[in-house]
Amino acid sequence: MVLLGGGYFILSAATIWLTRFDGGVAFLWIATALLTARLTTLPVRRWPIPIAACLVASVLTTSIWGFGPSLAGPLAIINVMEAAIGAWLLHRFARQQAVLDSHGWLIVFVAGTGIVAPLISAVLGGGLAAAIMSQPFLRSALQWYSGHALGTLAFMPIFMLVLRGDAARLITRMDRAKLIELLALVILVALVSFITFVQDHLPLLFLPMLPIVLATFRGGPLSTAASIVILALIGGALTLDGHGPIGLLNAPIGAKMQFLQLYIACTMLTILPANAELQQRADLFSRLRESEARYRVLTENTTDIVVNIDLEGRLRFVSASIRQLSGREPEALIGKPMSALLHDRDIARATASFHQTIAEPDTVTIVEFRGPQINGEARWFETHSRAVVDHEGNVTGVVSAIRDITLRKAHEERLTRAALTDPLTGLINRRGLDEELAKRLTAGGAGCVALFDLDHFKHVNDTYGHAAGDEVLRRFAALARSSVRDQDVVARLGGEEFAVVLPEATIDQARLVCDRVRRAVGEARVRIDDRTISVTVSGGVASYRNYQPAGDVLRAADRALYRAKNAGRDQLALAA
Ligand code: GH3
Ligand code: MG
Ligand code: MG
Repeated sequence: MVLLGGGYFILSAATIWLTRFDGGVAFLWIATALLTARLTTLPVRRWPIPIAACLVASVLTTSIWGFGPSLAGPLAIINVMEAAIGAWLLHRFARQQAVLDSHGWLIVFVAGTGIVAPLISAVLGGGLAAAIMSQPFLRSALQWYSGHALGTLAFMPIFMLVLRGDAARLITRMDRAKLIELLALVILVALVSFITFVQDHLPLLFLPMLPIVLATFRGGPLSTAASIVILALIGGALTLDGHGPIGLLNAPIGAKMQFLQLYIACTMLTILPANAELQQRADLFSRLRESEARYRVLTENTTDIVVNIDLEGRLRFVSASIRQLSGREPEALIGKPMSALLHDRDIARATASFHQTIAEPDTVTIVEFRGPQINGEARWFETHSRAVVDHEGNVTGVVSAIRDITLRKAHEERLTRAALTDPLTGLINRRGLDEELAKRLTAGGAGCVALFDLDHFKHVNDTYGHAAGDEVLRRFAALARSSVRDQDVVARLGGEEFAVVLPEATIDQARLVCDRVRRAVGEARVRIDDRTISVTVSGGVASYRNYQPAGDVLRAADRALYRAKNAGRDQLALAA
């Protein structure tokens, strides 16, 4: 508090001494910048003490060196109020952002502390000064406004950097070379500003721009903020002293000082946005590097393979995990077409999915494919792909995460097989037969279907027991399998009913094959313990043609079977 009050006292005294001209208001009012900067580092509830300290300091300086004790109170109130308004606006609208680091902060900073707050204080303070000195109000208010706005804008950044600890942080983070460069840049700005403003012959006002731009681009926010302060102090002091290019103007000192204010304001408003832009880019760059590092950790440690593919379908990046899965080196695959990762039979499907990914950049496409065989073993992969879109919305390629799903695929196949298999006989079941028939019939082509039903099977169960019945069923299945051709399919439909699909068989060929089955069953003897069981079977055969409904064919075969049963069993009947 004492430090702040002392600082405020020294700054206001110095500005009144040094920058007051024509007995009016100060050309460069710096004290508000100090208080505003301090307030932005504190929560609003802790504002009263610093405000009070500066109020006292302001009353003292104004009484001693300024407009005198009668006006000291009101002027002090106006000054601290200005700081509080500026700080509150920053606090309210730019709370989260770092000093000088973004355009958002800069806009609030310029609008709040460079326009709104000094305008309010200029109306009040300028009005008061105008009344005392019997000056026109507008002139007085304008002088007040430009001095306060410029002083706050020029000095607040450096005060904030120091008071918030940013300056110390920035400096400790710099290595020696960077620190020396920073110092050299600041000295260069001071030197060029001094040369520009100490000579009285040439209008060299553009000259300080060179080192200041250099300081902005090379040195970051700290040297940007310092450069402005240096320019304002050296330019101000020498111009007030009658030196420098502005002295070449044929105008009263008030007009010259206002011109200098305009000059400093323009310089500041040129380099502060450039600095904000640079900081935003640096921030973006470091975030990009962070995400790059994260991505790298992921791609290098996941068992999934990550690949980038360009629009021509060539591999641009392949993660290291490809080694474990395929034994190939990632580098060897760069530039190769993506088909290098695909089994020949899946290239067309994967290519279609690739084009779909590019056409629909917002969706993730998922495709399963086989990789090229390695050690004679085909592996299954599942790929999640998404289009890579540049900042203009153009698709530049595709990124895919590829996962080995060979185990899952094998498990799925086992499950599918189980769902289609009859556990007692190992034959395909009713669902398997339906699929088989549907496949045959939709593919076109002709053939036959036979239905078999064991005769008096209830009797077998009743006489020998259910377990013996089961054994008879198993034997029938084996006999049927071995009696038909390789391309024929035998299914158990349930109970003691079976079906045989005989693709491409004529009804005569089918009858021959089925009769072989019937005879083999009739001749077979099933031994259980010391008893021998023999059974007979009846069958109905129907032929099918292209695209016939499967239900029709099975019904025709079933009607034939019914006739065979009625005709005395142990025989075949052909569908009409
Ligand atoms: P038909 O000559 O008219 O076909 O006489 P059937 O006795 O075979 O007649 P039905 O079709 O009514 O009887 C079938 C019997 O098959 C009834 C049931 O006890 C038996 N069965 C069905 N499923 C199984 C099975 O999984 N194991 C055993 N052991 N018996 C079965
Ligand atoms: Mg039956
Ligand atoms: Mg039966």
